[in-house]
Amino acid sequence: KTAPDMSVFETLESEVRSYCRSFPTVFEKAQGYKLWDTQGREYIDFFAGAGALNYGHNHPAMKKKLVDYLMGSNIIHSLDMATKAKEAFLKRFNDIILKPRQMEYKVMFPGPTGANTVESALKLARKVTGRETVISFTHAFHGMTLGALSITGNSFKRHGAGVPLNHAVSMPYENYLGDDIDSLTLLERYLEDKGSGVALPAAIILETVQGEGGINVASPEWLKQVEKICRRWDILLIVDDVQAGCGRTGPFFSFEKAGIKPDIVCLSKSIGGYGLPMALTLIKPEFDEWAPGEHNGTFRGHNLAFVAATESLSFWETDALTRETLRKGEKTKQSLQQIADQHPDLDPVVRGRGLMVGIAFNQTDFAGKVCKEAFSRGLIMETSGPEDEVAKLLPPLTIDDEGLDRGLAILEESIAVVKA
Ligand code: PMP
Repeated sequence: KTAPDMSVFETLESEVRSYCRSFPTVFEKAQGYKLWDTQGREYIDFFAGAGALNYGHNHPAMKKKLVDYLMGSNIIHSLDMATKAKEAFLKRFNDIILKPRQMEYKVMFPGPTGANTVESALKLARKVTGRETVISFTHAFHGMTLGALSITGNSFKRHGAGVPLNHAVSMPYENYLGDDIDSLTLLERYLEDKGSGVALPAAIILETVQGEGGINVASPEWLKQVEKICRRWDILLIVDDVQAGCGRTGPFFSFEKAGIKPDIVCLSKSIGGYGLPMALTLIKPEFDEWAPGEHNGTFRGHNLAFVAATESLSFWETDALTRETLRKGEKTKQSLQQIADQHPDLDPVVRGRGLMVGIAFNQTDFAGKVCKEAFSRGLIMETSGPEDEVAKLLPPLTIDDEGLDRGLAILEESIAVVKA
């Protein structure tokens, strides 16, 4: 990642040393899938807060609920206390999301961010099983706190912790070793062989589509196989749905199609609906072993986030959003494939599920240059993957076809310009 151009700020000097996103402008306004900067330039948002804005910027119905809530003498901050806003969210989440899917989970508020839900899942799995290690996968991303980082398969990010991190074992994600090598057989062999050095883990944690890792998509068969291994060895299965959840891949939960039943599910990003910080950890009732106070935090369960999140669940009263996301996702992949076919020399690979889509290139820096060019043409997108080799498309799920087509056209032009 290049250092950001801080000169865009008139008053702030470069105090923000760890900031990694370099869009050389100051943004001012946003609506739906569009952003505007202080120069009045319009941008199409194919980034959507890294998946925190599945319903777009400033969704009108959520905004109204928030404004109404603020206008009353309602409680904004309440730590862990029960509030009407929290109760309303829990009821609706249960009625609209869990019950229709016949899912029985205890809902926990682990803190405001994705890393917080991952930390809570790791702690609980270790507590419940009395085992130390957790298996995660190559190129996984689970967050930047010490525990979440220890299971993140990215050596650059891990370098931020300075010294090696333990209590994690990294296994190859599906297709990491190519089509012919079945890495899960290897995992089973490790577990069977008491002398393999791989201890029986507390949990296996995975993303069904690796977002930061380069849009690597696990097949339903592979996910089923992982679940089978977990059941066979009494290992907890944790699905980190922080980025792939809340409809990003079509259904509300990214693992629905595979029909697996994780023991713990991590949700954040778009669960807050409006871009407000919120996270949930869903725990199978038999594993709800926390003693009071064992995992708490000042900002876990913020009432403004509850208000917006409750309203956002209206999207899930029908299957319209899922159907539209799948349709737009297919359309996006087809368009990208057409673009890819024009550039066989770049060996582009298109992959994704729902509106979590990427195009990988074989040249160093190519995807980064494409994103930079796209930005200059009014499209915001980022790279992902271990070498930043993938241009990643993560538009709001509510984007219309016109916005999608315009964004894809800018991407097509940008690829041609960078290659020329
Ligand atoms: N898990 C996954 C799959 C993520 O994509 C992210 C964020 N990119 C996180 C966890 C961490 O979330 P946060 O940045 O809110 O801590």
